[in-house]
Amino acid sequence: MGILSLSEAWRSMPGRKSFLQHLNRAISGSRENKRRFAVMVVDLDGFNEINYAKGCDYGDKLLLEIGKRLKLIIGEKGYVARSWGDEFLIACHLKKEKEALNKAEELIKGFDEGFKIGGERIYVTASVGIALFPNHGENSENLISTASMAMKRAKENGRKRYVFDDIKTRNDTCRVIEITNCLKEMTEEDKYEELELLYQPQFHLATGKSVGAEALLRWNSPKFGLLMPNLFISIAEERGLIVKLGEWILMKACKQAKYWIDSGASFQKMAVNISKQQLSTSFSGLVRDTLKRTGLEPHYLELEITETLAMTDSERTKLVLNELRGLGVRIALDDFGSGYSSLSYLSSIPIDCIKIDAALIKDLPGNQKNSIITESIIELAHSLDYGVIAEGVETREQLSFLKEKKCDYFQGFLFSKPLPKKDYERKFL
Ligand code: C2E
Ligand code: CA
Ligand code: CA
Repeated sequence: MGILSLSEAWRSMPGRKSFLQHLNRAISGSRENKRRFAVMVVDLDGFNEINYAKGCDYGDKLLLEIGKRLKLIIGEKGYVARSWGDEFLIACHLKKEKEALNKAEELIKGFDEGFKIGGERIYVTASVGIALFPNHGENSENLISTASMAMKRAKENGRKRYVFDDIKTRNDTCRVIEITNCLKEMTEEDKYEELELLYQPQFHLATGKSVGAEALLRWNSPKFGLLMPNLFISIAEERGLIVKLGEWILMKACKQAKYWIDSGASFQKMAVNISKQQLSTSFSGLVRDTLKRTGLEPHYLELEITETLAMTDSERTKLVLNELRGLGVRIALDDFGSGYSSLSYLSSIPIDCIKIDAALIKDLPGNQKNSIITESIIELAHSLDYGVIAEGVETREQLSFLKEKKCDYFQGFLFSKPLPKKDYERKFL
């Protein structure tokens, strides 16, 4: 960093106040010349976790590098400022609406190569919300809040995206509030009739035999229709409601597994997704009680935790995972290869298997880079004595590739979508 200290370096970047001034000037200028421009809110995905795991100094350095990168992409004609936390504000002139989309895409792609901090490279992604002047707001506050709302929607839709504000965004925001209220009511009253678990079979790759299933949540809401988990799990997580929902999910999945095993079927495992908020110190107690109450033997249960979760707060996570494995429950590392995969930590966390993210599988075997990465993950996992599952397998070509590379298991639409329990029974038990 040289002589310039970090805080001084920060000061060289305009803050929110300067941005507002710039924006007000841009608005009056554009009114006179009938020019258009875009306001973008860029928010990093999972930055708090990085800050927590690596410390604030590291976080600051990263933000500085990101600011520089954003400036480089936006160029001379735009204005980049820091808002607060891990949020940046951008204003740039446009000729056509479409240019805003191209810029947002460039911004998101601009993160792909990662950022070099103190000799190591770190990978982060960002979500972008866009508002256009004059279409989406006539004053600076309006434009920023509209872009912010769009950014939040981008995150809800799975991060690393950009979203335009429009009437739909506004309606969606109202819907988020309604969904939150319904979820609150559901957990307060312990009434989960509208929730359903679907079961997606997992197969042994060498033999094609089904070995068990991953439980995936659905919400059949009379008010909203069928809701997919992407639309409400993040809300439940943000509001802390996932802990109670998660208890219900775990109980339901364990009961189902026990029922299938007792009915004489060859059913070897039930995989259940676990959110970060659930992994508190009392979690292993809850799992132990649930197994006891349902009578399910622990080795039938596999808990899926995401890669990002495993990396953050890693000491506590390791502790809880060790306790769970002590019970005899298996742990799978979900979405591997989608986030900040760090190979060095892989050998240090207590897991049993790795699930290769569908995004890597998607363009196999045509995409050479992804093929090499997938092959390396399989080899690495095996050398660490972990099993490997590929998820999102949709084509025969993907399947043959994975078979050739000796991946152990797979799941995906090629063989089956997630199914209601009766259909699962009929087809796979
Ligand atoms: P995930 O854990 O990565 O689950 C896999 C997702 O990929 C599922 O989406 C599944 O339906 C979908 N999928 C499976 N095979 C294919 C395929 O061949 N092609 C494509 N395009 N997709 C495939 P789903 O059910 O919508 O779940 C989305 C996410 O919601 C899950 O991602 C998981 O993170 C979360 N989720 C689902 N159920 C639960 C739950 O009970 N608890 C928690 N905490 N999260 C859950
Ligand atoms: Ca999963
Ligand atoms: Ca996954």
